[in-house]
Amino acid sequence: MNYYQEWAKNNKEKIKEYHKKYYSENKEKYKENAKKYFLTERARKMRSERRQKYRAEKRPYENRNLYRKEEMERGQKNKALVILKYGGVCVCCNESNKKFLTIDHINDDGKTHKDNGKTRLKGMRLYTWIIKNEFPNDLRILCFNCNIGRRNNKGECPHKEIVPC
Ligand SMILES: [Zn+2]
Ligand SMILES: [Zn+2]
Repeated sequence: MNYYQEWAKNNKEKIKEYHKKYYSENKEKYKENAKKYFLTERARKMRSERRQKYRAEKRPYENRNLYRKEEMERGQKNKALVILKYGGVCVCCNESNKKFLTIDHINDDGKTHKDNGKTRLKGMRLYTWIIKNEFPNDLRILCFNCNIGRRNNKGECPHKEIVPC
């Protein structure tokens, strides 16, 4: 053991303190470097290799049909839960057949409803999002008929009032 190693062994706290201080003073630089590294080809490759390895271990390709089935079932369950929470029927015509029911954005902001500003939320991902966000109250249930009818009738379902073109 050389002199420095000896000293380091007896001054662990001091060294820790020093690194902490150095890090907090250079935080931005560290972050910047980490960001740069994240974007390199090497880092991307490493991430993809890790992902592949994980998949091969935990989700072998032979079972792909099973996973797909599980995912579908989970999606159906989520949809059923969301529909139940919003009353279970079309708020306009009382249609209760789940196969007809959809989520309606009361303020017509469905087109801009995005996850982290990236992809538009629809289908199964919309249901998961609703659950995660504890059933926001600017959403409601409409059946396909009322949904489309509303779109073709200037925002009001033709069940209520026919708006002349
Ligand atoms: Zn309806
Ligand atoms: Zn209607």
